[in-house]
Formats: sequence, structure tokens, C-alpha cells
Amino acid sequence: MIALENIEKSFGDNPVLKGVSVVVPEGNVTALIGASGSGKSTLLRCVNLLEIPQAGRVSIDDTSISFTPDGKPDRTAMLALRRKTGMVFQNFQLFPHRTVVENVMEALVTVKKWPRDKARQRALELLDKVGMTAKADAWPASLSGGQQQRVAIARALAPSPKVLLCDEPTSALDPQLAVEVVEVLAQLAREGTTMLMATHDLRLASTIASNVVYLDGGHVVEAGPARQVFGAPADPRTRTFISTLT
Ligand code: ADP
Ligand code: MG
Repeated sequence: MIALENIEKSFGDNPVLKGVSVVVPEGNVTALIGASGSGKSTLLRCVNLLEIPQAGRVSIDDTSISFTPDGKPDRTAMLALRRKTGMVFQNFQLFPHRTVVENVMEALVTVKKWPRDKARQRALELLDKVGMTAKADAWPASLSGGQQQRVAIARALAPSPKVLLCDEPTSALDPQLAVEVVEVLAQLAREGTTMLMATHDLRLASTIASNVVYLDGGHVVEAGPARQVFGAPADPRTRTFISTLT
């Protein structure tokens, strides 16, 4: 499971996260919702340590790091934590000069030092899972956005992360292409992939998330089962925000 405890993160004098706690049980999908600028991406980036929190604690599985405003976290521990995560970005971010299968193999070969044959085998299995086998040797630029995002999901899953972090995985896609990405994520959810995803795609959140966390003003305003948060939000701010989702 993953636990974020009292995470604080400021940029200069802009406090973005003011003590945010989120728990994602193993096998659970949690959707992070909130207005643009509410800190969803920052929180995801604090999980894989692309941003370093000034306070709080991040735990994934058996690895845990506490943060202080001036203490530098141990590099080895940071690396260990980061390797338990896989990240899917809004704009895919595939390596443009590598083919589809090479994109998926990359971390296995360079980080995990797998032999290329074994890495390619695993990459092809993952491409099959996301329905992209036929494009294994294609270049990213020749794919639709939905296809690129499915490859990006396969790439993020290749090193078997404990948690898949998704930052607005469908928001760069028009609705028809978003559907194929929602279907892939839904299948992963059914298979028990632990996910924390920032999204304002109500269809994505309500089809696959079992829990929802609503972030506003640097705080968690409301968190709970998706059915409850979407169906009967307790806080008026949540109610207002949810009515803006499409
Ligand atoms: P969201 O993903 O919910 O739209 P973000 O986490 O991207 O929100 O941003 C939250 C706030 O943090 C915004 O005010 C944004 O300008 C600020 N911010 C995010 N990243 C940085 C950064 N690297 N440097 C300075 N400010 C940042
Ligand atoms: Mg964002």
C-alpha cells in the first residue's frame, strides 16, 4: 500500500500542499480530483520524488522516507522509493527516437540490466495487454494519442511498480481516443493494479476509482468511497466542484 502523511510542499512563498494525507490500499484505485492549480500534479510528483516535500512522510510497501525543510533525504532511499512507482503523464512523453517496443524495454535494460531478449519478451507481453502488439516496431510519432498513451502505460508497468501514478492520463485526448485509454486502465484496475490518478475526467474516475480524494486550498477537503463522494458529497465545496466535471 502507499501512504502519504502530512505532505507539505511550497514553491517559494506559494504553499501548494499544506499537510496532505492520502492512503491507497494495495489493489485500490484512488482518483485525485481538484481544480486546476490545486496541487494534484505536485502531490503525484511528491510520491515519485520528482518534487521533494518539505515535510511529511511517503511510504510505499516497505520503503518509507520522512522529509524535513532542510534535511536532505538519503539518495539510496529516494531511488528505492522511486523505483516502486511508474508514472503516466498527460502528454505521453514517449522517447521519440525509440520504437514502441524499445520504449517499453528501456527501463528493463538500462535500470534493471535485463538482457535485451528477456526485456523484449516482457515488453511484448505488456504491449499485448494494452492492445498494441501490432505496433511494436512503429515509431511513436506514427501513433494516435490514445495509442501513444497505451504504450506509455505499458512502459510505466514494465519494471513492475507497486503503484501506477497517472497524471490526467486522458486529458490530452479527444473523447473517442480517451475511451481506449479508460478501457486499458479499467482492465488494469480489475487485475488489481494499485493506482493513484489525478483526473478531471468524471467517466474515468467514476468507472475505475474505488476511492476519491478532493483537494482544495492545499488540503484534502473530502475523501471516501467514489460512490459516496460523487453521489452524496458531504462538503459543499466538493458538491460545487463535482458539478463542474464532465
Ligand atoms: P494541478 O495539477 O492540480 O493543476 P499543480 O500541482 O500543477 O496543480 O500546481 C499547483 C500549484 O503549484 C500551482 O500554483 C503551480 O503554479 C505551482 N507549481 C507547480 N509546479 C511548480 C514549480 N515547479 N515551480 C513553481 N510553482 C509550481
Ligand atoms: Mg496537473
